[in-house]
Amino acid sequence: MKRRTFVKGVAGTAAASTLAGVSGCGGAASGGRPGRRVAVLGGGCAGLSAAHELAERGFQVTVYEKKDILGGKCRTIPLENTGFGGRADLPGEHGYRFFPGYYKHITDTMSRIPFSGNRRGVKDNLSRIETVNFSRADGRDLVLPYQEVTDFIFDFQTLADFLLSVIGGFPKITLNEARFFVQRLLEYATACKDRRLNEYDKLSWAQFCRADKFGADYDQVLVSGLTRNLVAAQAHKASTRTIGIQAMQIFVGNILLSAGEDAGRVLNAPSTEAWIDPWYDYLAGIGVEFHNNTKLITLNMAQGEIAGAVVEENGVRRTITADYYVLAVPAEVASKVITQQMRNADPQLNGIDQLVVDWMTGVQYFLNENVNLSRGFYTYIDSPWAVSSISPVQFWRNKDFGAAYGDGSVKGFLTVDVSDWDTPGMLYGKPAKDCTREEIFRETWEQIKAHVNDVDSGRNPVLRDDMILEQFLDPAIKFGADGTPEENEEPLLVNTVGSFSIRPEAVTKIPNFFLASDYVRNNTDLATMEGANEAARAAVNGILALSDSTAKPCKIWPLSEPAFLLPFKEQDVIRYRLGLKHILAFDR
Ligand SMILES: Cc1cc2nc3c(=O)[nH]c(=O)nc-3n(C[C@H](O)[C@H](O)[C@H](O)COP(=O)(O)OP(=O)(O)OC[C@H]3O[C@@H](n4cnc5c(N)ncnc54)[C@H](O)[C@@H]3O)c2cc1C
Repeated sequence: MKRRTFVKGVAGTAAASTLAGVSGCGGAASGGRPGRRVAVLGGGCAGLSAAHELAERGFQVTVYEKKDILGGKCRTIPLENTGFGGRADLPGEHGYRFFPGYYKHITDTMSRIPFSGNRRGVKDNLSRIETVNFSRADGRDLVLPYQEVTDFIFDFQTLADFLLSVIGGFPKITLNEARFFVQRLLEYATACKDRRLNEYDKLSWAQFCRADKFGADYDQVLVSGLTRNLVAAQAHKASTRTIGIQAMQIFVGNILLSAGEDAGRVLNAPSTEAWIDPWYDYLAGIGVEFHNNTKLITLNMAQGEIAGAVVEENGVRRTITADYYVLAVPAEVASKVITQQMRNADPQLNGIDQLVVDWMTGVQYFLNENVNLSRGFYTYIDSPWAVSSISPVQFWRNKDFGAAYGDGSVKGFLTVDVSDWDTPGMLYGKPAKDCTREEIFRETWEQIKAHVNDVDSGRNPVLRDDMILEQFLDPAIKFGADGTPEENEEPLLVNTVGSFSIRPEAVTKIPNFFLASDYVRNNTDLATMEGANEAARAAVNGILALSDSTAKPCKIWPLSEPAFLLPFKEQDVIRYRLGLKHILAFDR
């Protein structure tokens, strides 16, 4: 695990210009704004993505990162002093990393990070998942194949039949409920752009799907369950526009996957090992400088521009300067470092304060057996804390976990996302936010066991308490004097109802100031690695448009939807203009 504190890139501009041909970048000066020095503030997915695109286009990039390690929420968090006998420390993480097939931006970047033996660089470190288990406590699991559906969905009716066959298979869901829910998916799929933006962004997904119309199972499984487990968002808070887009991409987008793309993927090693360290090596090689342990405090303005950024390194403050500044910190940090003067210069920056972040955090259980619960991800539908997990080692290059990590006794692990910190649990009757660290471990484990050690296992326990050798909770959760969490230093943005209109663009009205992070307005429209990368590309394109560089802009893909839906959407354009509701809509 590399923890560089201050590193200067070596190969510099020479390597960058070699790459110019490879990525279609480069070019001579064209008379725009001069200057090539860019300060990237934040070294997470967005910051590294911006650094990547800029350095390949001949800019001199310096990344300033608060932590001693790069990668932000995507990084591996080693359990210190757990590796013995030449083995690495056990790999903790913020949460497991899932890359749906529709991701194009982040995977394109990954394909341009060299990795020995891989034709498509780090992208070839993605392993295909095959299933998703929707598990009920005391009920049979629904195991769905997670695959591309190119071959058999070619028109609206087949799509409708396909969706009904998937949704109708959920345990404890009536045919009537399944039909109603599928109709909502089809309504969204055939709605025009303006309706999605102006009508649906004002509704929560739960309102859109009428979570109140049917029984608790309808909400718990189809409305809230699918949302939190497939796109890690809360159906009662998140906007219909956002969730609809993601549902479209997951259910319908798989129709459009190009050859060679898998419908769902995870990394084949801990994320820092498979992705972030090779990224660092590549970026340093093309001249990017890194200042870790360097926290951005604020930004100074002069003559309508950013004149410098105040950073703090080892308790010492200094002002750094550049020609362009890319702010690549999450929304809750951006809202603190952006000054009133900057807000006056660009009022869209005020919207960042109103964005909502929530707790979603990883827990890992390191086991004395390698238990593979499913060939993909496992969602625990009845878990009050909205728990889901992956058994990663089965997807890894090196399947002998004990030989590579820890002291040799740990054979595998379960990596778990806890997405609801406010609902009382089943063991202690308390929300995670009111539990001690030990109670969080215990409660999460019991919620998983209730789903796994049930009728599906014939009551033979698949998971036993004596399997756990180590457990790990993200250190972003800070515990107070009473032993319960008092802060989550790394929460996640929720795309709440109406939030699209207040999210800022990557290009601001301050000429040399750009935003890159998962909250920035973009096509992906969900706080994800894909959204962070897309935002970074937009920021870089803003710099290119202003600077004297003639390098080609970064590619930004629209979200694709099947052509056979187009005539329906065109019909809805007319209905929307006439003030008519969608043809599939009911009275809300
Ligand atoms: C539990 C969990 C699971 C997730 N799973 C997935 C998934 O499966 N698939 C997916 O696509 N997305 C997933 N996400 C979302 C994804 O991780 C984020 O959307 C993405 O990492 C955001 O990248 P970012 O660069 O915008 O922000 P971050 O990753 O938060 O990076 C920001 C960086 O800025 C640094 N920083 C902060 N403050 C300062 C400062 N003052 N000065 C300097 N540096 C600073 C931080 O240390 C960090 O390195 C998950 C998120 C969570 C919380």
